[in-house]
Amino acid sequence: MIEVKNITKKYGSFVALDNVSFKIEKGEIIGLLGPNGAGKSTTMNIITGYIEPTEGEVTVDGINMLKRPKKAKREIGYMPEGVPLYYDLTVKEFVNYMAELKKVNKKERKQKVANIIESTGLKEVQNKLIRNLSRGYKQRVSMAGALVGEPQILILDEPTVGLDPKQITEIRSLIKKLGKNHTVILSSHILSEVSQICDKVIIINKGKLIAIDTPNNLEDKVANDNSVYVTVEDPENKMENIKEKIPEIKEVKLILENEDKTKQYSIKGEGNVDLRKIIFELFAKEGITIFEMKKADTTLEDAFMQLIEEGGEK
Ligand code: ADP
Ligand code: MG
Repeated sequence: MIEVKNITKKYGSFVALDNVSFKIEKGEIIGLLGPNGAGKSTTMNIITGYIEPTEGEVTVDGINMLKRPKKAKREIGYMPEGVPLYYDLTVKEFVNYMAELKKVNKKERKQKVANIIESTGLKEVQNKLIRNLSRGYKQRVSMAGALVGEPQILILDEPTVGLDPKQITEIRSLIKKLGKNHTVILSSHILSEVSQICDKVIIINKGKLIAIDTPNNLEDKVANDNSVYVTVEDPENKMENIKEKIPEIKEVKLILENEDKTKQYSIKGEGNVDLRKIIFELFAKEGITIFEMKKADTTLEDAFMQLIEEGGEK
């Protein structure tokens, strides 16, 4: 459906995207994930044909975006970052205006505009000025704009940024609903976001593609991490040499020093050994008081951090 092939984007000598390639199949909801400045918006702007890559190519349904931009663009509904809307129009006027711009058949326009307003949950506010809407509703209006012209592909740049938790849940449901009959690419710098709605996640950092996989597989990739986190009181500084006492301990790292003089460490074990019992017995013997101990559970958050760290070392 969408193929991004060896895309590089340079701004002067700055490389915003570095040889990025991926494929997206029809009907998927894809999350483009990465910290701020990773290159998410740049990637989306290139897929939509809004900016040109320095190198590489994009095809949409087999149509080359650079060679036949008009045809390729017809398949794409794009919601850029933020909410660049026409504040002095009502919701209905705005969607209708978008329909004019996208040359939706005049006879069908009224009905199609009404359908989009209905499906994005904007019916009650359709005659209100956009400027008077809440941030959540403005985001919906922006999405309605992207839906005009019945594109097969929806590209949503940070659709939940700036929304409150309730609005986020609502927008998420809306995206899921739209995902049933669209291919959706959305970007986010928040993991929980993409893990909940996306079939696949593309992680990018500093312009480089780091991973592309399902949220579950990404978690599994780092699931063999058997670290244990302990918060201890250790007046005699026994933690310094604790690693030598037990062969199963591979690594001890100080994570933070609390104001009450307790310290938090991460302790990594060899292989699949569960260190908790060993730590409990050893620390008691050494006079180290454990305030808290927990096994690291692998969340997508961990996967993300680990992949970004590994990617950065390359
Ligand atoms: P993201 O959307 O992941 O936050 P962007 O794609 O917006 O990241 O930006 C990627 C990098 O490219 C950033 O370092 C940004 O400062 C830089 N960048 C983006 N647009 C331009 C531009 N027009 N000129 C120069 N640098 C840019
Ligand atoms: Mg961005």
